[in-house]
Amino acid sequence: MTLEPIIGLEIHVQLKTARKMFCDCANVPDATPPNTAICPICLGYPGTLPMPNKQAIEWSALTALALGCSIRSRSKFDRKHYFYPDLPKAYQISQYDEPIGEKGALKIGDHEVRLTRLHLEEDAAKLLHGEDRVQIDFNRAGTPLAEIVTEPDMRTPAEAKAFLQELREIVRSLGVSDADMEKGQLRCDVNVSLREIGKKKLSPKTEIKNVNSFRAVEHAIAYEIERQTRLWEEGSPPAHETTRGWDDEKGKSVEQRTKELAADYRYFPEPDIPPLEFSKDWIDHVAEQINELPQAKRVRFINEYALKPEDARIIVADTALADFTEHVFSELAEWRSAIGHDDEDVVKEKLAQLVSGWLLNKFLGILTKRGIALADVRITPENFAEFLMIVGDRKVNTTNALKLLEKMVETGGDPSAILEDEGLTQDVSGSELDVIVQRIIVANPDVVASVQKGKEAALQFLVGLVMRETKGKANPEAIMELLKKTV
Ligand code: ZN
Ligand code: MN
Repeated sequence: MTLEPIIGLEIHVQLKTARKMFCDCANVPDATPPNTAICPICLGYPGTLPMPNKQAIEWSALTALALGCSIRSRSKFDRKHYFYPDLPKAYQISQYDEPIGEKGALKIGDHEVRLTRLHLEEDAAKLLHGEDRVQIDFNRAGTPLAEIVTEPDMRTPAEAKAFLQELREIVRSLGVSDADMEKGQLRCDVNVSLREIGKKKLSPKTEIKNVNSFRAVEHAIAYEIERQTRLWEEGSPPAHETTRGWDDEKGKSVEQRTKELAADYRYFPEPDIPPLEFSKDWIDHVAEQINELPQAKRVRFINEYALKPEDARIIVADTALADFTEHVFSELAEWRSAIGHDDEDVVKEKLAQLVSGWLLNKFLGILTKRGIALADVRITPENFAEFLMIVGDRKVNTTNALKLLEKMVETGGDPSAILEDEGLTQDVSGSELDVIVQRIIVANPDVVASVQKGKEAALQFLVGLVMRETKGKANPEAIMELLKKTV
């Protein structure tokens, strides 16, 4: 008997609207101190009335459209009842049978994952478990959540993780959520069952809750597949649906209560909010706000700029970085035409390497080290492109290029000006460099002997000596060439 894993996801995305879902409180779920962003509505006082957040509705439709869903012309809110201290009204305002979006799809690799629905609902309060008591923080109560449910179309833990990562990129690029899993802005429940290959009928699934990182998603699913495989092999596959909680530290899941059926929630239409009606014009207007989505952008960056897929992924994951990089490339295109290279592919390749090494690696490294956000950096894309041209033309060596870049980050200044002011130009070359190289060779006969025996480290050592002699104002590659010729 050969079994295949059947995996589906239920994902909650915190929308970063200014206000909560049904009241005027600030939407600051993690604000401290606790219970400061609250009002009678989100505390569920009797006699209060909910007022839906227009922005949250629009963003839900936007996200649904970006995920290929169709938007219902009519949608409504429903009450979902359960009794728990994090839910002061004893019901959650959610959507049951008329969600905002339905029937979408997202392509992961060459496999399509269908989306059942996207609906809008309010979040619950946070329970703070102390030594001898449980405290409740209502700052998160009533904040907007978009819930996205997939069909059981995934087959491997890696695919589920990739789906979730792609979803994160999409909501980030739409600007509707920061979708940071560690902060609970993106939460995921995983549904797993096994099925004999070739059979149609699904087996009862296990829902795994509290899966709070991408790594945990992969790990929890792999664990569940293994656990259920054992049950099948023992001849007792899961007979009914269960819920388990993932314990990341122990790397295992523990059975929780048996899952409620929809009937237990006693869903019924929210009587205090009239149904929503979406006109075709409004839906078109929302759809127009969708720019190029991350998947398409990555493909374009790879094709247009010859970037490596992993570099394109990093760049596109951050809208500010993608805009900056794209701007740098367009500046570089002008420079390229100015110097008139002939082989287009070679030039592309070289520019991609410069951007990868200096923008993604060194520049972002400096920003991380100094704790500066890209948005706060004063370097313009024009200046950054000019910097890359200086490096590309070897007007400065690597050590000094790094100094130049640090200085640019500090002052936001023009690279050519800094280069001159700081005397960083690579100006020891030609016969001047020849003389210094000869001098170093004569003064270090032992090292030269090692080089002749083929010792790479000895050669590097000589390069270092020459660099010191020139006070760093020569090109190490040029020195290397000279040394190899002479020794
Ligand atoms: Zn409130
Ligand atoms: Mn939900």
